[in-house]
Amino acid sequence: MTTEKLALQGGPKTITKSFKRYNSIGKEEVEAAKVVIESGVLSQFLGCWNPDFYGGTKVQEFERACEKYFGVKHAVTVNSWTSGLIAAVGAIGIEPGDEVIVSPWTMCASATSILHWNAIPVFADIEPETFNLDPKSVEANITPFTKAIMAVDIFGHSCDIDALMEIAKRHNLKVITDSAQAPGVFNKGRMTGTQAHVGGYSLNYHKHIHTGEGGILVTDDDDIFERLQLIRNHAEAVVADKGVTNLVNMVGYNFRLGEIECAIGIEQLKKLKGFVEGRQRAAERLTEGLQGLVGLRTPIIKPDCTHAYYVYPMILATDQLGVSRERILAALEAEGVTGLAAGYANLHLLPMYQQKLAYGSKGFPWTADICKRDVSYAKGICHVAEELHEKSYLGYAMCLNELEYGDVDLIVEAFRKVWSNLDKINF
Ligand SMILES: *Cc1c(COP(=O)(O)O)cnc(C)c1O
Repeated sequence: MTTEKLALQGGPKTITKSFKRYNSIGKEEVEAAKVVIESGVLSQFLGCWNPDFYGGTKVQEFERACEKYFGVKHAVTVNSWTSGLIAAVGAIGIEPGDEVIVSPWTMCASATSILHWNAIPVFADIEPETFNLDPKSVEANITPFTKAIMAVDIFGHSCDIDALMEIAKRHNLKVITDSAQAPGVFNKGRMTGTQAHVGGYSLNYHKHIHTGEGGILVTDDDDIFERLQLIRNHAEAVVADKGVTNLVNMVGYNFRLGEIECAIGIEQLKKLKGFVEGRQRAAERLTEGLQGLVGLRTPIIKPDCTHAYYVYPMILATDQLGVSRERILAALEAEGVTGLAAGYANLHLLPMYQQKLAYGSKGFPWTADICKRDVSYAKGICHVAEELHEKSYLGYAMCLNELEYGDVDLIVEAFRKVWSNLDKINF
C-alpha cells in the first residue's frame, strides 16, 4: 500500500467513504424539547426583581445539574459562551482601561469579551506542548494595570491552572477560564473550568455537547454568582429592588437561555462523559497509529491531565522533513483526509488589533486616557504562537465526525502513505 502512487499525483485515494457526522442529539433530547414546546412556556425569565428573574424550571434544573456535574457551588446558563465570557469579565469588576492578559491562540471571543468592557487585551505567548498560555510569558506581561488573566483550555487540554492561579494570587489578579473546548476533562483530579474565579463552557453546535447555541458559567464565589445573574438579565432594572449596592458593571444584557435549550442541555449533560470518552478512544488509536512518523509530533498530555480532543493538535518539524506543511496538507487532503487545518488563531494579528480600531473611528479604547500605556500588538510579541501558525502546526478537527476504529485506521493509512512518499511531493 505504501508504495502506491499518491492521490496528489494521480494514484488511488486512501479514503473513499464518508465518515458518519458527529451528532450528539438523540431521542431523549427530542422528547425533552417536545415536552417544553407543548407546555407553551418557552422562556420564563423576567427582567425585573421577581421570582422569574432566575428563569423557568428547566433553566434552574439545568443549572443545578451543572453544579453537580462540574462540582461547583454555582452555575449560570447563558445564551452563548461569548455572552458568558462578557458576563464573566463584567462580574469580576474589570474597569475601563484595565489590562487583561489573554492567549492569542483561541477563538476571538476570549479577547473581545475584554474589549466589550473597554478594557485592554494584552496577548501573552503560549507553550508549544499544550498551546495554552505560558505562565512565564504571562508573568512577563504583567504591568501595574493588569487586573485579570483570561486563560483558555484550548483544544480540550487544561491550561497550567495551578501556575496561573499562583501568579494571580501574588499579583492580586482574577482568573477566568474559557473551557469552551474542554468540558468534562481533568487536571489533577479537578475539572477544567472550575478552578479559576469563574469559568465555563460553550454549548454551540460544534462543541462536545450542544443546545444549538448556549453556554454555562461556573463559579464558587457567591458575589460573582450574583453579578453574573444580574449582567445576564438587565442588571440596571433589578439592582434597586434586589438591594444591590455595588453598581460596578451593573449594565445588564439579555443573555438568557430558553427553556427548550435547557431541557436539551439536561439530556446532553448526561451524555457528556460518554462523548468525551469516545473521542479519547479515537484519538488514542490515532496517536498509536501515527507513532514513528518522522518529524510528526502527536498531542502531548501533561501528567495528571486528560484531553477532550475538540481538536487533535500536531506539530510538523518541517526543517527535518524537508517538505512544507502546505504540501503535506495537500497530499493528505488528496488522500481523502478532511478536517485538517494548517495553522490556528493569532488574535493579535487581526485587523482590529493591528489598526487599534474597535469602538468608533478614533481608536477607542486605546486612544482614550483610560488606556494608560501603548500596548503592543506587533508581530513578534508572541513568537511561539506565530511560528506554530505560520509554519508547523497542523490540527485535525476530531469534532466533525463520529470516528470508528476503522475510520481512524484509514486516516493513519493516509498519513503513512504520504510519509513514505515525502520525497515526491516537494515540488
Ligand atoms: C466556541 C468557543 C467560544 C465561543 O462560544 P460560543 O458559544 O460560540 O459563543 C469561545 N472560546 C472558545 C475557545 C471557543 O472554542
